Amino acid sequence: LAKEIGKLEKLRTVSDIAASISHEVRNPLTVTRGFIQLLRDPNLTDKEKNRYIDTAVVALDQAESTISDYLTFAKPTLEHINILDLKKELAYTLKIVEPFATLNDVHIIELCQDTNVYIAGEEQKMHQCLVNLIKNAVEAMPHGGKLTIRLKEQNGKAVITVTDTGTGMTDEQIERLGTPYFSTKEKGTGLGTMVVYSIVKAMRGEIKVESEIGKGTSFSIMIPTTKPFPSLNEKIVSYS
Ligand code: ADP
Ligand code: MG
Repeated sequence: LAKEIGKLEKLRTVSDIAASISHEVRNPLTVTRGFIQLLRDPNLTDKEKNRYIDTAVVALDQAESTISDYLTFAKPTLEHINILDLKKELAYTLKIVEPFATLNDVHIIELCQDTNVYIAGEEQKMHQCLVNLIKNAVEAMPHGGKLTIRLKEQNGKAVITVTDTGTGMTDEQIERLGTPYFSTKEKGTGLGTMVVYSIVKAMRGEIKVESEIGKGTSFSIMIPTTKPFPSLNEKIVSYS
């Protein structure tokens, strides 16, 4: 009987997941379609045009990130491990999230130490991790605010901190972070943070959360650093 129930539960989960993916991908596609149609209007000002384009791009990114979250949820392991220059990966991510922050009146402040910081990981997963943290931070500031991103190396670890001036979280909410489908948002998937946790874990890292209701939240991820290129000695050892 237990086996039977397990089987049923699994089936229900699969169909639930299929339904929610469809819903969460269809919504942004509809938004994008609408804004592309609006762009036909010959009387639009440049400012309006740019706003419509930003909205369409943000919606497409939303669909893309929902799909990535489900894929990582299904398979959290790293596939192609590379040496990542975190400064570079951070700059790339900020470019992606900039239109979303701008549309929400969020001002991004980037504070990086001068020297580069390297970790072993997977580019796409690192971007996904940062995008999810930044998205949550922006979503926690419905009336705009300040988002500070810091990168530094400390005690052999790369430390990335994402701090917002948003709503903050209760202890109970902090406790539930990282569990699937936990969301306080009307249209949330509740997968973003759990995907962040699983990616950081796959990169042998840790996460720290500090939050105060009405003040804001700070997420720090700490991942062991690596050297930019393996030395000749290490190569010989690993091939012997
Ligand atoms: P979703 O964003 O779809 O709700 P997440 O897993 O990304 O799912 O986040 C889960 C919940 O954690 C959010 O609904 C929110 O309540 C809380 N949360 C995460 N990040 C923050 C933040 N920076 N500020 C306030 N609450 C947050
Ligand atoms: Mg989220």
